[in-house]
Amino acid sequence: MNIQDNIVEFNNLLATTNCKLVAVSKTKPVEDIREAYKAGQRIFGENKVQELREKPGKLPEDIQWHMIGHLQTNKVKYIAPFIHLIHAVDSLKLLEEIDKQAEKNDRVIPCLLQVHIAMEEHKFGFDEKELMEMLSNALIKNLHHIHIIGLMGMATYTDNKDQIRSEFRNLKNIFDRINKNIFKENVKMQELSMGMSDDYEIAIEEGSTMIRVGSKLFGPRIYLN
Ligand SMILES: *Cc1c(COP(=O)(O)O)cnc(C)c1O
Repeated sequence: MNIQDNIVEFNNLLATTNCKLVAVSKTKPVEDIREAYKAGQRIFGENKVQELREKPGKLPEDIQWHMIGHLQTNKVKYIAPFIHLIHAVDSLKLLEEIDKQAEKNDRVIPCLLQVHIAMEEHKFGFDEKELMEMLSNALIKNLHHIHIIGLMGMATYTDNKDQIRSEFRNLKNIFDRINKNIFKENVKMQELSMGMSDDYEIAIEEGSTMIRVGSKLFGPRIYLN
């Protein structure tokens, strides 16, 4: 697995698209991140606050760190000073906490709302009705330290490509409907985070603007315990 070559290959693939690569470095050592950095990669995604507290200090400052995993309200304060984008916001309560911590840091933090598009029960996120209710909530416009800049979703883990495609297409349609119907200063659908190592090609075809790729770049993850 040559990480630098992999980054170059993805850049070639994405060159003719409107889609960015989020290199998912969770569980991987800073040496691997440095390899990707050498090949020009600047956006890295982590899914644990713990790793986001440990890695950035050991790496170049121009890296843009994305939180792609489920975020607990009580941990927002640790990443608020530097996080570039939070992908998986799944409640108004969490959004309010991000706003509060962003204000303390004198920042505006861009966020994506996670939408539940998969058949699996356990994945986090809003369904479309909950999403529309939340975005229509009058409280949203008072959150001056967040920007909702798009949506994030994960397709069902399956070999059925038609199903994956229809789930991504559904997410893109929701994204377009919000842009047509919701008018708030701090809500603007610009980024659509969908696609991982096994389904990024379909995601790109269906309008993804950010693919989150881990194992295809860094090799399989090894989990201890
Ligand atoms: C781990 C992870 C990814 C990357 O997964 P791969 O299949 O290794 O590309 C993408 N998105 C989220 C939310 C993840 O947790």
